[in-house]
Amino acid sequence: MRVTYLILVLFLGTQAAWAEGLPELGDASGAILSPQMERRIGEEAMRDIRLREPGYLDDPELAAYINVLGHRLSATNPDARQDFEFFMIRDATINAFAMPGGFVGVNTGLLIAAQSESEVASVLAHEVAHVTQHHIARMLGKQAQMSVPNIAALVVAILAARSNPQAAQGAMAAITAGNIQSQLDYSRDFEREADRVGFQSLQRAGFDVHAMGTFFERLQKFGRLYENNAPAYLRTHPMTSERIADMQNRAQDVVYRQVPDSVEFQLVRAKLKSEQGSPGDALVVFKDQVNARRFASEAGAHYGLAAALLRVREFMGAESELAELRRLIGSHPMVELLAARIKAGAGDLKGAHEIVVAAAKQHPNYRPLSYAQVDYLQLLGRHPEAVAALGELIKTYPRDARLFNLQAKSYATMGKRLLQHQALAEAYLLQGTLPAAIEQLQLAQRSGDGDFYQLSSVDARLRQLRVLQLEQTKKEVQR
Ligand SMILES: [Zn+2]
Repeated sequence: MRVTYLILVLFLGTQAAWAEGLPELGDASGAILSPQMERRIGEEAMRDIRLREPGYLDDPELAAYINVLGHRLSATNPDARQDFEFFMIRDATINAFAMPGGFVGVNTGLLIAAQSESEVASVLAHEVAHVTQHHIARMLGKQAQMSVPNIAALVVAILAARSNPQAAQGAMAAITAGNIQSQLDYSRDFEREADRVGFQSLQRAGFDVHAMGTFFERLQKFGRLYENNAPAYLRTHPMTSERIADMQNRAQDVVYRQVPDSVEFQLVRAKLKSEQGSPGDALVVFKDQVNARRFASEAGAHYGLAAALLRVREFMGAESELAELRRLIGSHPMVELLAARIKAGAGDLKGAHEIVVAAAKQHPNYRPLSYAQVDYLQLLGRHPEAVAALGELIKTYPRDARLFNLQAKSYATMGKRLLQHQALAEAYLLQGTLPAAIEQLQLAQRSGDGDFYQLSSVDARLRQLRVLQLEQTKKEVQR
């Protein structure tokens, strides 16, 4: 069986030369991979990223921000039938990448380098378009006869090495054992299509469409200046002057209107910057901004200074920056979460918990506040209350793996082994790891601490998952 690993290039176009031998475009509807298969590849790749990628940012506030922004764009695209999940990687290089199944990664470097929220949105819109147009499936072509885990492993190997072409080649060689026939970047045709579709999303979602050409032009200039250190984004998405001109022409037909950045954009950027470098460095950066009144956003500067003061454990100073911040923008969930962290940092966990409880009443739909409530209850050792709160949250968000993981943590501390493994099983299932979910249910069966009803519920769930597993195996054999 001959295998062509065309997918490689979607994530790391190592050399421009590869862009020459372009694949047949195929048509969007005739995708080789079914949407379910794309999703499973993406889920498997995601699981590896969560486990092994040191830069994976498990920060609910950042995740909430990038998902709101991304969903605002994907919601405008009539072809976006699948779920999208946006996530962030702590990496200073400017990059964003799409994986099969609607998973889109965004480097922190992109957020920091962008000069407006519309610029970030234009990159996301382009990535979303690569997903909705099924460019990955179309590039795989008919030659691809790989199993889902093999493709996912490949995707991850390439992502892991994305900032380091030499390492990437090593990883590819190890996995593909000489089976690579060819590799290529997103073709120019795919890039044009992603630009066109992305542009529409950007416009429909109400962002500044001029940002697309501006940002890509800046990237290209940057790329020329630092040839060997060009933004990673340019390696995977070949930029041409023709593309930039095309975007600028399209933007000319749109009446210019100013689109202000959201306050979240400012706070998220301040949060990222406040976490950079040593605590002392971060403090100097934000003190300078505030003292000299040299900032893009006053709220961002005060948020960053409060966060930096927390890092150097100057809690009083941090509190007064918070007061300033509240005066500027009122009650904001990200401000309240920072307030709670400052309280907790000063040793007042009870006070921290009270802050997030009060804030959650004002901002009931902001999930990071709900997680924080549970976190503080757990830190306070109030596990039965944490379990009760989680029970309610799971009713509202039954597909949120983090909640089940938190549940497992409390059950583990309370010595309830059956319930712990049952919760872990649901967490694994939601993260697309069926075999691990089944294993957890088997552990739950053998835990020896469940009552009759709990045991029957574990048995019933196990039967369901085994049926599911059988169906998945059949589908893979048919491929
Ligand atoms: Zn692209």
